[in-house]
Amino acid sequence: TNASQPKHADCSKVYVADLESTLHYSLRVEATRAAVLSGAQLAAFKCYVAVLVKYFPGRPCVQTYLQSLDGWLKNWTEPELPRSALKEAMKNKRDSSHPAMLPTNVTWVGCQGSEPHFRGYPCGLWTVFHLLTVQAAQSGPDKELPLEVLSTLRCYVRHFFGCQECAQHFEAMAAESMDQVAGREEAVLWLWSHHNKVNDRLAGGDTEDPKFPKLQWPPPDMCPQCHKEEQGVHTWDEPAVLTFLKAHFSPANIYPDYAE
Ligand code: FAD
Repeated sequence: TNASQPKHADCSKVYVADLESTLHYSLRVEATRAAVLSGAQLAAFKCYVAVLVKYFPGRPCVQTYLQSLDGWLKNWTEPELPRSALKEAMKNKRDSSHPAMLPTNVTWVGCQGSEPHFRGYPCGLWTVFHLLTVQAAQSGPDKELPLEVLSTLRCYVRHFFGCQECAQHFEAMAAESMDQVAGREEAVLWLWSHHNKVNDRLAGGDTEDPKFPKLQWPPPDMCPQCHKEEQGVHTWDEPAVLTFLKAHFSPANIYPDYAE
């Protein structure tokens, strides 16, 4: 393990704190920047919550929270949704026998940067995105709705992601090739390979945390079988990468805290 990482954070694990901090920030902070949601922006928000309900492997209270928000949004049939109404609907409901709770604190574990301006939310958002594509691939026929998750993420990024430059880059990549994705497993690999393109573009730049250099991921020490050489040139063994992603972004690899 990397000695520069915070105590006990292990880059081979996914942490509940990163996932829940990301959901809290995306739903309650990024999505409520506009005074009113309407049109394509409102549709993108409803889609995002519906996909989270279907595929986010959360703790029971978080699942209940997402289900209750999704139900509330489905009942909201007016064309405009004021931020004040949405904020009220997104409050935690702890008193019932089925508490609906998404913690309101932001704590980074696997996504902790060496300085506060590094990593954090963008790292958490990638993690949630990968988790959703993998859970969708694990839960239905491969050829059924192959773009369900990817197109929802694309809409979320376009309408809500606070880093506008990132959103433009992501939209350009999506416009180029996302529609050709024909299966849920291919969707997992599309997100993985395009995240690596982003890593490649950002390597050595000033947004890179020096303690967490941008790599082509997963590196050989994490997944030796993912890498191969053909005539002296590095290539990925995509079936091995898919197997690795399914294990890495699985409920069994999500850990509650720093515990080993
Ligand atoms: P991240 O790249 O955030 O990765 C998070 C974690 O995911 C890693 O720690 C690793 O465990 C895992 N991981 C890494 N690579 C892969 C992969 N290929 N497949 C699966 N899992 C992987 N920043 C900019 O400066 N310019 C941009 O244009 C830009 N575009 C972005 C677009 C999107 C949609 C998002 C979500 C973020 C974007 N960012 C951009 C932010 C940037 O990509 C990083 O999220 C940020 O710099 C933090 O990097 P990180 O080291 O924590 O790792």
